[in-house]
Amino acid sequence: MLNTKMLKLAAADDNLDSLTEAAKLLQSGELVAFPTETVYGLGAVYNSDQALAKVFQVKGRPADNPLILHIWSYQQLDLIVKEVSPKYERLMKEFWPGPLTLIFPKKEAVSYLATAGLDTVAVRMPSHPIARQLLEITDIPIAAPSANLSGRPSPTKGEHVFEDLNGKIPLIIDGGACEAGLESTVLTIYSEHPVILRPGSITKEMIEATLQEVVQLAMPDQADKPQAPGMKYRHYAPKAAVTLVEGENTKVVAKINQLLAELDNVKRVFVLGTAENEAKYHCTNFLNLGSQAKPGEVAARLYDLLRRCDQLNAELVLIEGVSAKGIGVAIENRLRKASGGNIINVS
Ligand code: AMP
Ligand code: MG
Repeated sequence: MLNTKMLKLAAADDNLDSLTEAAKLLQSGELVAFPTETVYGLGAVYNSDQALAKVFQVKGRPADNPLILHIWSYQQLDLIVKEVSPKYERLMKEFWPGPLTLIFPKKEAVSYLATAGLDTVAVRMPSHPIARQLLEITDIPIAAPSANLSGRPSPTKGEHVFEDLNGKIPLIIDGGACEAGLESTVLTIYSEHPVILRPGSITKEMIEATLQEVVQLAMPDQADKPQAPGMKYRHYAPKAAVTLVEGENTKVVAKINQLLAELDNVKRVFVLGTAENEAKYHCTNFLNLGSQAKPGEVAARLYDLLRRCDQLNAELVLIEGVSAKGIGVAIENRLRKASGGNIINVS
């Protein structure tokens, strides 16, 4: 067991000095968890196979699920990718630094451990000031999947990382709650049309507006293989059983109330729903996802609430589906994964 240190930093400060120890740990092949604008990342330098192997081991991540490399400058991009298409240049200009991951042909310097044997590499330039400063002083691209145990909801607060990885890594940089709260959008242009392999807060509409062409959303079974191996696993799930109820709002509320009535003998049933519906449920264990009018806030709260269900020993969680528009597409995607396919449609 390692002694896991928590280093609390404020994103608004100049943290270059405080991050020296973290950079040294990374450079010596150790793992460091750090905040980004999406979720917390579990960082390892990309050029040490030993460090990369540790990432898979610590998370319990399947070896066929590739990692995203994080950079802070375009010089670092040159180290790891073979070519940058003009489409990517437009997207990078518009959305980097930010929550958009792009798939490139990889350079030899990138280990197949990081790419899970693929000849492509996923790259992102985060905008979070602490992530950027850490990347800058470490001065080596950093592979960083979400800093949770595989299958658990991604961490959006320092304490979530501690819950999962205490004793397994030497350092967690705690920069408070993540702004977006969902993992980055993953996009590839190496197919007939650009394809979103994983939806996120940079939406299909935003990418289409920049590229001036139609962008496809990978269907879950297309996303499984061959392009986005990571999407096939049950993800983002609390320990409790989850049932997702999708459809028109009044019908969703009625269905959840019906389930609650039928489940009279199950003590620890929780409802995860929107603020607008709170008063309509016949349930005392209600967790508020936020307003339907503010899907960005719902996204930012979601993983914290899924973890809260575990802390409260929920046996069953009934979740209200969201409208699949804009960022709602990404929320719906994560809710479906959390439900493990246990979905009731009442539309
Ligand atoms: P995580 O690091 O947990 O946010 O997951 C990274 C996501 O990016 C997973 O869904 C991976 O399958 C996907 N990904 C990483 N590298 C590639 C790649 N070279 N091609 C396609 N998808 C990738
Ligand atoms: Mg993850």
